[in-house]
Amino acid sequence: MDLSVVIPVYNEEESLPELAEWIVRVCRNSGFTYEIIFIDDGSSDSSWKVIGDLCRSNNNIKGVSFRRNYGKAAALHTGFGLASGDVVITMDSDLQDSPDEIPELYRMVKEEGYDLVSGWKKKRYDPFVKRVTSRFYNFTAKVWSGIRLHDFNCGLKAYRNEVIKSIEVFGEMHRYIPILVKEAGFKKIGEKVVQHRPRKYGTTKYGLDRFIKGYLDLLTIGFITRFGKSPMHLFGLLGTLMFLAGFLMAGYLGGRKLWYVSHNMRAPLVTDSAWFYIALTVMVIGTLLFLTGFIGELVNRNSPERNKYLLKDKINA
Ligand code: UDP
Ligand code: MG
Repeated sequence: MDLSVVIPVYNEEESLPELAEWIVRVCRNSGFTYEIIFIDDGSSDSSWKVIGDLCRSNNNIKGVSFRRNYGKAAALHTGFGLASGDVVITMDSDLQDSPDEIPELYRMVKEEGYDLVSGWKKKRYDPFVKRVTSRFYNFTAKVWSGIRLHDFNCGLKAYRNEVIKSIEVFGEMHRYIPILVKEAGFKKIGEKVVQHRPRKYGTTKYGLDRFIKGYLDLLTIGFITRFGKSPMHLFGLLGTLMFLAGFLMAGYLGGRKLWYVSHNMRAPLVTDSAWFYIALTVMVIGTLLFLTGFIGELVNRNSPERNKYLLKDKINA
């Protein structure tokens, strides 16, 4: 099969028929063999019923439905598990992404050999606050990951099948999929300017909390990609530095005391010095960091992922 289109759906009943009809039209015109996979993320409106009707009217349309709302990342993960097309395209179900982009995205993956092509909503139809914060995140993600993309969280993306089978989108990490892809060892990541449209029906599914969560997730992913396999390399270093600093301060105080005593002078109390308290605190924090590192290593040791490596190729093996 040429193409799988994976679409997360959360309360988008009005958009679905129009969206499905549009994608089918584009695929037919381009002569693709295709499947459209709708993942109903626990919608409380009639989205699942609409998907059911669509599936019955066209065998290429498939659907699964979650028992409750798990989030977009979970929906994408499940869709990726089911997708069997050579090229897998994800898009939002609110008609903000245009199915007309599909043939060119397909061509870039298939012919130009991209592992991932991310959409870039150069001209965006979103509220002002979202556009500004989104800029900030994209800039940070770009500097942090070294991936030269303008729009990490665009819902419209195309992948080679092997790529989506190799990554695990979890939590709310759908915002940073390109980083996961790079982390899995796929290097050819590109982007394509795509049309973006205002939301036609319904409302956005994310509130203001998306900004806080997006920021925290960025920190998490930065930490995991750098130190996920060896947390001790971060915590051990910080812990050693802090402990050493505290140890030197305490050593200085002790040494000073001894010097006074050995010269038969009245020594000031060690506890009179501010350095004593600073040394104490710093050493305690240093020890805690160390322990965190050890616990991190123990957690890793038990992870089923600890010896999972992605093979690029095999010969006689
Ligand atoms: N979505 C989902 N589960 C959720 C929230 C959103 O599957 O918990 C889907 C939603 O139906 C849409 C896409 O994710 O297809 C993007 O959501 P939305 O359009 O609300 O986000 P925005 O465009 O405002 O960033
Ligand atoms: Mg949207």
